[in-house]
Amino acid sequence: MQIQENFSLKSYNSFGINATSSFFTKFTSLIELDEIYNFVSASSEMPVMILGGGSNILLTQDYTGLVAINEMHGIEVVKQDAEHVYVRVAAGENWHRFVLYCIQNSFAGVENLSLIPGSVGASPMQNIGAYGVEIKDVFHELEAYNIKERKLQKFSAKDCEFGYRESVFKRKYKGKFVITNVTFKLNKTPVFNISYGAIQQELDRMGIRELTITAISGAVIRIRQSKLPDPKQIGNAGSFFKNPTISQQTFERLRSTFPGIVGFPAKDETIKVAAGWLIEQCGWKGYRKGDAGCHAKQALVLVNYGNAKGADIYNLSTEIMHSVEAKFGIILEREVNVI
Ligand SMILES: Cc1cc2nc3c(=O)[nH]c(=O)nc-3n(C[C@H](O)[C@H](O)[C@H](O)COP(=O)(O)OP(=O)(O)OC[C@H]3O[C@@H](n4cnc5c(N)ncnc54)[C@H](O)[C@@H]3O)c2cc1C
Repeated sequence: MQIQENFSLKSYNSFGINATSSFFTKFTSLIELDEIYNFVSASSEMPVMILGGGSNILLTQDYTGLVAINEMHGIEVVKQDAEHVYVRVAAGENWHRFVLYCIQNSFAGVENLSLIPGSVGASPMQNIGAYGVEIKDVFHELEAYNIKERKLQKFSAKDCEFGYRESVFKRKYKGKFVITNVTFKLNKTPVFNISYGAIQQELDRMGIRELTITAISGAVIRIRQSKLPDPKQIGNAGSFFKNPTISQQTFERLRSTFPGIVGFPAKDETIKVAAGWLIEQCGWKGYRKGDAGCHAKQALVLVNYGNAKGADIYNLSTEIMHSVEAKFGIILEREVNVI
């Protein structure tokens, strides 16, 4: 395992921020992961940041520690019964590559999650979701390396405490575990989810009459490509903010002043409000200051047009949060991990 010093992370984060890390390495096995923690404990416990695709982070400063890229690979069917197939995937696998593997093998359940950037290992971190599906819907269990005890530990779905873009790994176990593999429970007979109107409209446009997981994946890919900027062209980390949840009562009150407000019923009789709509109403859509901006097609996505610093993006996000709070009394929460 090679450790490099004073390393530029520009091509290891989808925002394309040119921050550096004091040390940088990649690991492909548990043995190498152990070596990383031997190395850092010999250097008076320097911090370690494990990264997959770097598509959910904003680097606001240089990282004084070791950045380790997870390159553990492998996809394996470990069990099956009449209805389900259980697939264990190493954490360093690319998420979309795993989705394509499922589609090729007629394993249903992740087709709505096509084209989400990043690694399989990061997918439980924030319970990734799109178009009516979250990974908790297909999750069976995961294994994670307990950094303090230097041993593997299993987590069931219950242990992970999944919520909307949340899990135990973002909260009480933050920085305490490295996810090494995830086992998914996929359906042999598909249960199609086209609850998002956009999918049906796209299927119609594609002239698809018979629903298949391939067709749904294709529709999702087309929608995403038309709406979201490609990080290879314009730096971004997808949705920068979570959609806030408010009470039914607050929603009704806001609707009397802002009849166009967009919201969807969420759990416990609350309403999930479209953060993109709130941001757009505050006039940020298409805004640009230097190289930091708010995307012209999707206000929820903050972008780096070239040489923005992480702090420029962060400051813009703070300004957006202040204006949304001033206009609607709603406090937005960042979805992206700010480093
Ligand atoms: C264009 C675009 C579209 C997106 N669309 C969506 C979407 O529709 N839905 C959605 O939910 N997200 C979306 N995202 C966000 C992102 O793709 C997901 O959060 C993804 O799971 C991040 O994976 P990653 O490997 O890049 O994580 P990274 O950015 O590398 O890491 C994210 C966090 O997880 C930690 N981490 C990473 N791997 C591990 C591991 N193995 N063990 C422990 N901790 C780890 C990191 O330290 C960091 O804190 C989008 C991003 C982009 C750029």
